[in-house]
Amino acid sequence: MATMVRVRHVSVKVALLARLKTLQLRLAQLERPVADGHGDEGDRSLAYERHELAADALDRIAEEIGACDAALARIDAGEYGRCAECGKWLAAARLAALPAASLCIDCASHAERVRDDRRRRPWTEE
Ligand SMILES: [Zn+2]
Repeated sequence: MATMVRVRHVSVKVALLARLKTLQLRLAQLERPVADGHGDEGDRSLAYERHELAADALDRIAEEIGACDAALARIDAGEYGRCAECGKWLAAARLAALPAASLCIDCASHAERVRDDRRRRPWTEE
């Protein structure tokens, strides 16, 4: 049984490392400068728009790289598959769909609700 878990984690590790490699390649592509100062106004605003999109994508990719790194660290620590919030084991289906997931479905949806609430009612000083 313990061996089966280990084998499963090795394949997760391979998948995470492959994902990391893809993300790092994507990161390298996005970090190439898009604007070179030539072209007319339209070219420049298009370049600016691409830059904005790239900045957005960079944030998401950096976040996912962080999640993959953290998942790899959890595998090495023997904590992979355990919820970082409540300590319950994550469902196998959840891990299969999101190998880098660190929260169980309950904690993840709670975290999402909290995030949404903050977005809807930003804290203001009165
Ligand atoms: Zn949890």
